[in-house]
Amino acid sequence: MILTVKNRSALLDKTLRLVESDTTKDFFTYFDFQCQYVADYVHPDEKEQFIDLITGKYDKSDNRSNVFRLLRNNGEYCYNFVTVRNVPEPNLARIRLFDIYDAIEFTRLAVDENNKIHAALSLTNDYIFSYQKSKDLFTIAYYSQGQEIVLHKMHLADWKKLVIEERLVSPENVKSLNFLCEDIAKSPDHIMDRIEGSFRTAGAVQEKLRFVGMRHEGLNDTYLVGRILSDEDIAKIQHSHALINELQLDSLTQVYNKKTITSYIEQKFKSGLDNHFAFMIVDLDHFKPVNDKYGHMAGDKVIARSAQKIKEIIGEDGVVGRFGGDEFVVVLDNVANVNILRGVLRALVVQIKKEFEGDFEDISLTCSVGAAVYPTNGTTYDEIFKKADFCLYRAKDKGRNRYVFYRDDLHSHAYAERLKETGGGKASESRDVQELGHMTRFMRNLAVNPKTALDTLLKHMMDLYSVDCICIYAGKKMKRIVNYGEDYPELKSAEYVFSDDFKKLVDDSGTALFNLTYDIPEGNLFRAVLEERKIYSTVHCIIGTKDNIKGLITFNKLNVPIRFADYEVSCANLLAASLSFVDLKKLC
Ligand code: GH3
Ligand code: MG
Repeated sequence: MILTVKNRSALLDKTLRLVESDTTKDFFTYFDFQCQYVADYVHPDEKEQFIDLITGKYDKSDNRSNVFRLLRNNGEYCYNFVTVRNVPEPNLARIRLFDIYDAIEFTRLAVDENNKIHAALSLTNDYIFSYQKSKDLFTIAYYSQGQEIVLHKMHLADWKKLVIEERLVSPENVKSLNFLCEDIAKSPDHIMDRIEGSFRTAGAVQEKLRFVGMRHEGLNDTYLVGRILSDEDIAKIQHSHALINELQLDSLTQVYNKKTITSYIEQKFKSGLDNHFAFMIVDLDHFKPVNDKYGHMAGDKVIARSAQKIKEIIGEDGVVGRFGGDEFVVVLDNVANVNILRGVLRALVVQIKKEFEGDFEDISLTCSVGAAVYPTNGTTYDEIFKKADFCLYRAKDKGRNRYVFYRDDLHSHAYAERLKETGGGKASESRDVQELGHMTRFMRNLAVNPKTALDTLLKHMMDLYSVDCICIYAGKKMKRIVNYGEDYPELKSAEYVFSDDFKKLVDDSGTALFNLTYDIPEGNLFRAVLEERKIYSTVHCIIGTKDNIKGLITFNKLNVPIRFADYEVSCANLLAASLSFVDLKKLC
């Protein structure tokens, strides 16, 4: 199977009217030819930015790009990666559209390694190098409009000779060339080698370049594949790739990430009432103990295996995404009746249990599922989400390892009660937003009663962060004044906070984060301190400033490592910052 990613392209004049479209009718699945003003097809929030990009208001460079939502002729907005290329005529610009949903679909299909590499490369007009290890074959090629134009293809040693002979590098750069060739031959996981040369311009212009690539293990061979980029290219690419990655898959599980699945679901809600679909939230039961007892890596594997299993069960009947942590969402299409829904829900519960049976002898790793159906249970995303979330909460409450789907006759009263309890706020708020709520309440109460405010917050953090203890230190001797969790005598003081070795590891906000003690350079005193105390993972936040340390708050995990979520570190940081304004003695 030969796969290509659809690239749509068209020529526009500076008033954004279509002059010509070279990629046939495909293009007009986006733009209706009747109405030629292209900006009308851009999401209203992004229209101005789109016009600026095409007209080169802020950036006149060739190949400028960004992501925009464009209206398809089916009435939906779809994310597109839009690249603008200047053409010789001063009043014209060529745009290329690359539909990100196509890309997601494509990534799913492109199982063959070679296809994946070529597909990714065909998206750009970059210079590509590749090295096939078994054949010692080195290639430099240029991709234009999906076509490969080969500039060099030979054994690596021959290429080096040719570069020197044809003076594609200057004599003073031969050393860098040797280094580059050695690196390529070794084919490490990643390479990022700088060299000044004229590989891209066939000897015409010397450019400062970087060979940026990574190793791919194909079925029968090892390849090193990458791009030859100038610094300017790198800045542009980093920006657009970050956007695309953010819009696609969750890196741990390879199911859709929160952003993608959310925009997918939002689109579904616009698709009309005749399309019955179920929205499910799947949350693993007793997952935290896996992290705690077997370590974070084992936890990660559980999450990845669960995602695969859920995907396998849902198959072509729906879409799976990860909302974060051990929580997944499923959108199941064509739920014609309750029996179909029940069958899938049962399969999820039974098969997840089976998947992990016997793996963790002392932990029963199962899942709970809550579900609601569109449009029977609600017509907005918020309503459906809240009802599915309510059902999940019921499933957990009833003892876990079960599913609950929303039924008006059974649940409407309890649901209304819970809405009142939770204040009816957006149920779809993620963990980090919920945490922000806790922090806000803490800050409000801090002025009134610092001790109670701190007590409530630290109890909550102990529950949530999977740490063994949270300690606060203060004074010249950095004595422990507050302790939550186990009382470890060896954590009674923290004078090391004044040492240069510790200060070196603290960032500008006064925080030192180590998911793994071994990440600290050997020989650093702080590493020895943590090792001695058997602290495997820690967040240390200075109260005050680096130059005027009033105190310290630490979140510690002993004996096994954990990984702190970004929001956990941010909240720790915020807590330390707030405590800087408090008389710490009042906390004892
Ligand atoms: P419950 O049965 O009530 O669902 O409890 P639980 O033990 O499964 O814990 P809960 O769902 O409340 O919390 C999920 C935990 O997952 C919280 C966090 O420490 C951990 N976690 C979040 N993201 C990741 C991750 O990417 N990898 C790993 N290993 N753990 C994560
Ligand atoms: Mg859970």
